[in-house]
Amino acid sequence: MKKVRFFSILIYALVLILLFSWLLGMFDDTSMHIDYSEVIAQFENENVSSFEVKGSKLTLLLHEPINGSWEVVHSLADPEGFHEQIRPLLGEQTKSGIISSYNFVAGKGWSPFDLVLPIILAGLVLILIWAFLAGRAANNNHPMNNFGKANIISGQPGKKVSFQDVAGMEEEKKELYEVVDFLRNPAKYTAVGAQIPHGILLSGPPGTGKTLLARAVAGEAGVQFLSISGSDFMELYVGVGASRVRDVFAQARKIAPTIIFIDEIDAVGRRRGSGMGGGHDEREQTLNQLLVEMDGFSKSEGVIVLAATNRKDILDPALLRPGRFDRQIYVGVPDSAEREAILKVHAKNKHIDDSVKLKTVAMATAGFTGADLSNLLNEAAILAARDNRPAMNMDDINEAMMKVLAGPEKRNRVRLQKDLKLTAIHEAGHAVAMYNLPTHDPVRQISIIPRGWALGMTWAQPEEESTHLTRNEMYEMIVGLLGGRVAEELFLDDISTGASNDIDRASKLARDMVGRYGMSKALGTISYTGGDELFIGRDFERTKSYSEKIAGTMDDEVKTLIDKAYNHCAEILNNNRQKLQQVVDFLMEHEVMSGTQFRQCMEGVEITEDSGSLFDGFDAK
Ligand code: ADP
Ligand code: MG
Ligand code: ZN
Repeated sequence: MKKVRFFSILIYALVLILLFSWLLGMFDDTSMHIDYSEVIAQFENENVSSFEVKGSKLTLLLHEPINGSWEVVHSLADPEGFHEQIRPLLGEQTKSGIISSYNFVAGKGWSPFDLVLPIILAGLVLILIWAFLAGRAANNNHPMNNFGKANIISGQPGKKVSFQDVAGMEEEKKELYEVVDFLRNPAKYTAVGAQIPHGILLSGPPGTGKTLLARAVAGEAGVQFLSISGSDFMELYVGVGASRVRDVFAQARKIAPTIIFIDEIDAVGRRRGSGMGGGHDEREQTLNQLLVEMDGFSKSEGVIVLAATNRKDILDPALLRPGRFDRQIYVGVPDSAEREAILKVHAKNKHIDDSVKLKTVAMATAGFTGADLSNLLNEAAILAARDNRPAMNMDDINEAMMKVLAGPEKRNRVRLQKDLKLTAIHEAGHAVAMYNLPTHDPVRQISIIPRGWALGMTWAQPEEESTHLTRNEMYEMIVGLLGGRVAEELFLDDISTGASNDIDRASKLARDMVGRYGMSKALGTISYTGGDELFIGRDFERTKSYSEKIAGTMDDEVKTLIDKAYNHCAEILNNNRQKLQQVVDFLMEHEVMSGTQFRQCMEGVEITEDSGSLFDGFDAK
C-alpha cells in the first residue's frame, strides 16, 4: 500500500520536472541561434562587441543586431577549433577596440545539467512536501484510503476509564470483572478448564452507560482495545462491511489478548431474512461474516467481543446463541442511590456550592439515566457561568432540570390574558385531579410559564420509579392526564387545543392497557399489539394479527375506558371547584406553585412562601 503510493508520487514528480525543464528551456531560447558560418561572418564583419565561450556554448553580443537580436548563441561542435580559427581576428579586433571583452570559461561549462540540477532539487523538495501531506491525509481516515479496512480505535481514546468512573452498577461490574481478570491472567482460567465467554452483550436503554462500561473494562484489563461502531460496517458498497469484520478480527488476533468492542451492534446485527427495507444484502453479508468470525476463534485466543445495543429485541437470534454472545448483561436505568453516585462522579470536576444537595437531586430525578444526569449538571454549570458565578447552586440545577424536561423558559413570549387564564385552569385541573388519585405520583410543581412548546406544566414525580405499573396506576394516570381538558370544560364555556398532547398520551395508555397488557375483561389476557413500535422487517405481519371483530371490540373497550376516566375526573374536579379556583388564582398571581404550596392549598392551610423548586418535598434528611 505504502510502496504503491510512493511510486506514484515519484512518477508525478518526474512528469513535473520534465515539464519545468521544458518550460525553462523555452525561456532560455529567447536569444537567437545562428549557424557556425554566420558566427565566423560576424567576426569577419567586425560586428562582435564581446563574446563568451562556456563549455560548448558561445554567446555573442553584437554591434548591429541580426533580425532585431543583439545577442546570438551557437553551440560549438569544436570549441578548440573555433578558438584556433578566430585567434588572428581576435588579436586585431581587441586591439582596435571592436571587441571590448571576451571570456573563455574552461571545464564543463554549460550542460543540460545546469538547468536540470536545480529543478531536480526543487522537485525533491516538492516530493517531500507532497509525501508529508499525503501521509497526513492518509491518517485522517479518508474513506478512499482504507476502503474495506475497519475504522478502529486502538487503545484508549483520550483518558483511561476505570470502573471507578462508572458509578453504581455493582452487579454489572462484578460480572465484567471476570472478563478483566481473564485477560490479565488467562492461565488461571485455562488451567481449570474454564472457558470465558466469547462475547458479552450489554443491552439497555440509551444513556445508561453501556459504552462507558465497555471502555472501563478495557481500561481495567490494561489491554489494547479495538473499538468500532456498528454503523462503521455499513457502506454503500456490498462486501465492504464483511471485509471490515475480517479486518477487525485479524487485527485482534495479532494483538491478543484484546477486547473488540462493537458499539450499537444492532446496525449490523439485525435479524436476517426480512424482505423489507430493501432486502439488505450488504447487512446480511456483514452479519454472516461476524457470525463466522465469532465461531472462528478459539476461546483460548484471548479475544473477547463486547457489544452494546439499545435494541436487543431486533438482534438476529443467531448472534445470541451460546458460543457467540453467550453472556448478556442488562444495564438498566439507575435507582436513587445509583443516581446519587453518578451525580457525585460528575460533580467531581465541577464547582458546586453548599446549597447543593446531590442526594435531593438524586431523589427528584427518578427515571433519569446517567447521560441525563451528566447533562443536567453540565447545564447547571453553564447557567452559573453565564451569571459569572464561580459555583453552581441548587437554583441552577432546578432551572437546568426544567430546561431538560421542558425546554428553556419563554417569559418574553407575548401572552394574552385569556391564554394565561386558560393555561392556569388547565394546569390546576391536572394538579387537583392528581391530588385526589390515591396511586398517582405527587405533584411537585405547577407552572404557567411557557417552556419549549408547552404553555404550562404540572410536574408529578414519584420518590422512586417503580418498574411495573398496575392496572389501577395506569388508569389513574389517564384520569390525571384528562384533568386539563375536563377543567377547561367545567370552568370555561369552551375547550382548547392545549390538551392535544394529554389526549394523545391518555389514548396510548388506554390502547396499551387493552391491546397489549391484556387488562380488559372483554378481550381477555391476550396481547394483540406486540412490541412497542412497528419495526421494519419485523413484527410487520404480527402487528395486525387479530380479526376485524377484535379490532372493533378493542376500540369499544378503549372508548369505554377513556369515558370512565373522563367521568371520574369530572367528578373529582366538580367536588373540588373551590380548591381548583384557589389554585388558578395563585397561579395567575405567582405563575409558579411548588408542590408544598399546592398541598397547603388543598389542605386548606395558609400557603407559605417558597422558591417553587422542583426539588420541593424531596428534602434529604
Ligand atoms: P450508552 O452507551 O448506554 O448509550 P454511554 O455509556 O454513552 O451510554 O453514557 C453516556 C454518558 O452518561 C457517559 O459518558 C457518562 O458521562 C454518563 N454516564 C452514564 N452512566 C454512568 C454511570 N453509571 N456513571 C457515570 N457516568 C455515567
Ligand atoms: Mg453507547
Ligand atoms: Zn395538559
